[in-house]
Formats: sequence, structure tokens, C-alpha cells
Amino acid sequence: MDFKDQLKSSVDIVKVIGEYVRLRKSGVSRYTGLCPFHSEKTPSFSVHAGHQFYKCFGCGVSGDVLKFVMEFEHVSFPEALKLLAERNGIPMPKRAEYADADTRLRTAVFQMQELAQEAFRDQLAGSSGAEARRYLEKRGVAPEVSAQFGLGYAERAGRSLLRACERQGFTAEQMEASGLFGKRDDGALYDRFRNRLMFPIHNESGKVIGFGGRALDPGDEPKYLNSAESPIYKKSAVLYNLHRAKEGIRKADRSVLVEGYMDVIGVSAAGVREVVASCGTALTAQQVQSLRRHADKIVVNFDPDAAGANAAERSINLLLDESMHVRIAELEGGLDPDEYCKERGADAYRAKLDKAQSYFYWLADRARARFDLRTAEGRMAGFQFLLPAIQRLPEKIERVAVANDVAGYLGVDAGLVLENFRKAAMDRRDKKVAPAREPLRADERILLNLLLSDLDAREGLLPRLERLPAVEQFATRRIFKALFALHANGQFGYEELHARLEEGDQELLASAVLEDETNTSAMTLQLGEECLRSLERSGLRTQVSALKARVKEAERAGSLDEALRLAEELHRLERSG
Ligand SMILES: [Zn+2]
Repeated sequence: MDFKDQLKSSVDIVKVIGEYVRLRKSGVSRYTGLCPFHSEKTPSFSVHAGHQFYKCFGCGVSGDVLKFVMEFEHVSFPEALKLLAERNGIPMPKRAEYADADTRLRTAVFQMQELAQEAFRDQLAGSSGAEARRYLEKRGVAPEVSAQFGLGYAERAGRSLLRACERQGFTAEQMEASGLFGKRDDGALYDRFRNRLMFPIHNESGKVIGFGGRALDPGDEPKYLNSAESPIYKKSAVLYNLHRAKEGIRKADRSVLVEGYMDVIGVSAAGVREVVASCGTALTAQQVQSLRRHADKIVVNFDPDAAGANAAERSINLLLDESMHVRIAELEGGLDPDEYCKERGADAYRAKLDKAQSYFYWLADRARARFDLRTAEGRMAGFQFLLPAIQRLPEKIERVAVANDVAGYLGVDAGLVLENFRKAAMDRRDKKVAPAREPLRADERILLNLLLSDLDAREGLLPRLERLPAVEQFATRRIFKALFALHANGQFGYEELHARLEEGDQELLASAVLEDETNTSAMTLQLGEECLRSLERSGLRTQVSALKARVKEAERAGSLDEALRLAEELHRLERSG
């Protein structure tokens, strides 16, 4: 067994994928969830615990646990191996074949982030970090909270991280790619972060991929500076704190979206674990999709100032486009989430989240503040302002209810509102595509699954099936042929079988296995026997009627010897049945 197989046999695909996607059990060994590779509202993504593969009926992706990690984390095969091995405490063999140039660069970039985090942490604890520690104290961040979030301090001097990386033997090319350094016109590198409070940013599996740095000197611009994009850090794809929050998001069945690092830390320290922030960018569809894999409800709680409100307004349509159920929390007294938790306490903050209103009411209030609803023009403008958001309402019932609300709020005609909903609903229908596929015959499906899962069935049924002409009529005939060949070689496994098939048949195999999971009937050898017998009988019937036809033909042609020979054959066949 090579390392890949060894690793695969010691990890559970359901557990691994379950870290990224909320999976529900939907069959004996089948789990389903929302596909992480395309945007969808109803789950078409399945994981099979028995045969250890995943498949999406929406976008067609499928594979084993390593393929999933490669595709999801955008990593190479050796990196996926390493990641899974590390996460499961399995030692990696040191083999040069597991490293191409790209992988080596990414590995180096990952290592530099760790080196940087250590350096920043040391500097925060050291003499140069006194001012940063005072700032944290002033903001009410307890030392244990600071440690939990891995906060650090980047010194003013400006070359200490550079030196540390050089000492570790990283090349200039690797350092330039790390996102941690700037480059002067003469080509010399320098530390990107100087005199800043440092927040490590992690990917969903919990590895540091970059940093956000907050200026401590009021004169320093920008106030927040992020790592430059690197082979491992793409701003638009990352949410701050998601790797810690995903557990909480699933438990609470909602996420809380705030604006900044300090908000996440303050809110999380107050016991609201499901909190994340988009760091250094406006919210992106990719970020929303990564939230939605854990829960489709979200409470948006941005800063109370105009910039925060505008950002919230912009994020609403994006969230609705990804079918999120959106509520907006508003905090009184001009406090941001962090300040609110500290001044009013965790319980008061939690109550604010729980009582947060649907985005629609929040938007309607904004419309009322912005437009003069006493005039007809103002009402129309308000309606136009609300339209994009309310058109995105997912449920029909909700739309009707809201139509009345909107009409009442704005004093416009309810019919006009409904007409616009109807148009939007029709647009949505046009966009929908439903992949339809003919279901497999029950006997094929039963036999296939039985043979895949039961050695006795293979021993007992395969030799008989091989002789059966009816197999030629199966949609899955090439799968059966591959099964026969594998069995003859004395080896067997879902994966070996899958590897032998063309793409179309691989698809068919996955469907047959997953469809079977929706069927509750227990798969027994006896059931397989019955299927086989009925196939044999129907095969016999086909043969008998074919022979009868040939006898008649021979008689008509006057070849009586031939007719007689065929009749005897027919007689033998009928007796054998
Ligand atoms: Zn998909």
C-alpha cells in the first residue's frame, strides 16, 4: 500500500468534507449537503461513507477525499496529502517526488507566515510591544483573548522579519511571494508591516495565510493594512475567523457578520462564537458561499456610521443572490459591536442579534429617510430603491406578505409591487436548469450495489451473471464487464472499478450507488438471487421466442433439416427452464 492509500484508508471522507460542508445523513451511508463548488439552494451534493466518494448532481464534480481537498483548498496533490496527513496526525514520508516547484514555493510561503506569527507574538510580549499592549488593554482585550487570536506586534524597525526569513534560508523570490514584504525601487525588500498591531488571518482549515495590521500611530496610513496577495492568500476568498466560527455557525444555525478584526474579537470574547468579518474588502460572493455551506441565515451587524450602513446596504443584494436569509442588527448609542459588548454586556448584545429584523424593514427605513414619501415621485423613488432587494426574496409566500408591507410602508399600489415580483420570479425560473436523467432499472441497481458491497454475492452471483445475455441490455453493461474483469483478477474495490471506467460510466456508477441509498430496502443476497433468477427467466424467454422465429423461417424456406435441428434445440431449452 503506498502512502496515498494508507492515508485514505485512515481518514473518513464524511468527517473531512463535513468540516467544510454541513452534511445531513440521507441514507444508510449517504450524506447530502449544499455543493461547495457551485451555488445552489437545494442540496445536490452527496458523500458516500461506504465507498468514500463525493458527487454533485448539479455541477457534476466527483472524486475521493484527496480530490475534494485539492479542489476546495486549491492545492496540489502533494499539498492535499500533507494537509490531510497533518490534520490526522499521520507522519508523511519524506519523498522528493512529492514536491514540484509550485508546491515548494507555497510550502515556503506557509512557513514564512508561521515564522512571522511567532516573531510578531514575541515582539508583542517584548519591550518594543509596550505601546501595542497598552492599546489592547485600552480596548479591553484580555491577554488570554489576545493569545487565543494569535495577536502580535510588528516592530517599527522594519527589517527584523526580513532578517529572520533570511536566516532560515528563504530565497528573495520566496520572500517576495510571501505577501509580507515590500520592494524598493532598487530591488531591496523591507518589512511590509511596521509599528502595527498584527492579526493573523487563517484559511478555513486553520493555517495562517496572511495578516492584517492596524496602525498604532494615528499618523500612519492606511489605518488597516493587509498582506499582499500571495499564492496562498486571496483577499476576496477569505473571511476572518471562519475557521474558528464554523462550529458556532452550525450550532447557532446562523452567522454574524461584522466589519473589523476588533469587532470579531470582542463579539467572540462575549460568547457569540459564530462571528466573522470580511477583511480588507467589500463582501464577495465567494465569501458568502463559504458561509452558506455552514448556515443559510445571517445577521449583519456593521458599524453604526454612514460608511457602515452603506456597506451593509451593498452587502444585502449579494447575500440575497446567494439565497441567504438576511437580518440586520442595529445598535443604539452609536456603538460598534465590540464597544456594545463591553459597555452593555454579552447578554444585551445577544438579545440585539436575536431581535434583529429582516433586512427589508431596515432598508425600508433607509428609503423613508432618504426619499420624501409625501410626494408621488418620492414614493416611486423609494420603491425603485427597494425593488432589487425585495425581488430577490426566495419564498413566494414571503413575497406576497412583503408586497403588502412595501405598499403600506411607501404608500404605493400593492398591485404594482406584486407585478414586479411576478416578473422577477419569471426571470428566476428561466435561469433554473434541472438535470434530468433516466432512472436505472431496479434489478441492475440492486445487483450492482450488492456486488459492490458483498463478497459472498460476488462469489455466488458473478459467474452466473457473466453467462447472462440480458446483461448486454443493461445501461450499466460496461460497468458489469469491468466488474467481471476485476473479479477475475482477484481484486476488488469501488475505486478500482471507478478507475477502469470511462467518464460517462463513472457517472452512472456513482448515481447507481447514491440512488440506492435513497431506497430503504435492505440489500440482501436473497434479493440479488431473485433479481438474477428473473433476469435468467426473461433471458430464456427471449431465447425461446428467437428460436421459434428461426424454426418458422426455416420451414418457410423449405430447409426442413435446419428446421428440425432448431426445433430440437428449442425443445431442450424449454425443458431446461
Ligand atoms: Zn455542485
